[in-house]
Amino acid sequence: MAAAVMHNCGGVECLSGIPGSVGGTPVQNVGAYGQEVAETIESLVAFDLKSGEEQEFEKEDCGFGYRTSIFNTSERGRYVILRVTYALKHGWEPRIAYADLQNYFANWERKPTLADTRDAVRQIRTSKAMLITPGDEDARSAGSFFKNPVLSAEQFEELKRRAAARSLEIPSYPALDARKKVSAAWLVEHSGFSKGYGQGRVGISRKHALAIVNRGNATAAEIMAFRDEIQGRVEELWGIRLDPEPVFVG
Ligand SMILES: Cc1cc2nc3c(=O)[nH]c(=O)nc-3n(C[C@H](O)[C@H](O)[C@H](O)COP(=O)(O)OP(=O)(O)OC[C@H]3O[C@@H](n4cnc5c(N)ncnc54)[C@H](O)[C@@H]3O)c2cc1C
Repeated sequence: MAAAVMHNCGGVECLSGIPGSVGGTPVQNVGAYGQEVAETIESLVAFDLKSGEEQEFEKEDCGFGYRTSIFNTSERGRYVILRVTYALKHGWEPRIAYADLQNYFANWERKPTLADTRDAVRQIRTSKAMLITPGDEDARSAGSFFKNPVLSAEQFEELKRRAAARSLEIPSYPALDARKKVSAAWLVEHSGFSKGYGQGRVGISRKHALAIVNRGNATAAEIMAFRDEIQGRVEELWGIRLDPEPVFVG
């Protein structure tokens, strides 16, 4: 991301600060702050463990969706992604669509550049402990633990009804509204798991309701038990089953 911005190439500036490898980005269609790699990936080359051969995929073959592709759904575990071609656009205007970014630049008198946008994203991520920062205990997480649920029209109406019964309003952002995507963080917070929740070795980050943090020596079983507790409570109160974003090993 830094190199793209340095060369004045747009398309991935909002993804600054996301940890991981290039080959990992198409797997869950990595995205943040109003941008996702599906918008810039042109093609990729993967090694097919089934046939033992390399195969080229055009973007259309990858089945990209919100945090999904064929590589983490229908063809999970079959391909090792070797090369990814991104079509970055030289001299592009930065994407400032997400509410956090719009707020950040609200009082600026000049147009933000790609580099300004990258800096802004990294600062916002730091404030939410979503940038790996040595010494920040709240950054000891796997990032967002749950995906934002994408609801059918009926599920959305039911959610609104349940919120209204508790005199609450479902938060509304342009990026979420278009697909009836609702904020997983809001659901978690409104199910009793506020920022900083938990006294033991596992808890919620003090800076982001979607980050489960290991406060020191917590076992995988403890993290899973906490996941189950959150999922159960959210489902009970809101009728929505949260889907975890991290991949579980073992
Ligand atoms: C603090 C923090 C913040 C994060 N913020 C975001 C965010 O804003 N947006 C977002 O989308 N994600 C975010 N993530 C999640 C993570 O950064 C992404 O999922 C990233 O793509 C992981 O890359 P990786 O190379 O570490 O993959 P891994 O975590 O090692 O693997 C993830 C999955 O991809 C598969 N995989 C990895 N590389 C390849 C390959 N070359 N070929 C085939 N399969 C492969 C693995 O088998 C596994 O199933 C965050 C994580 C953390 C810790």
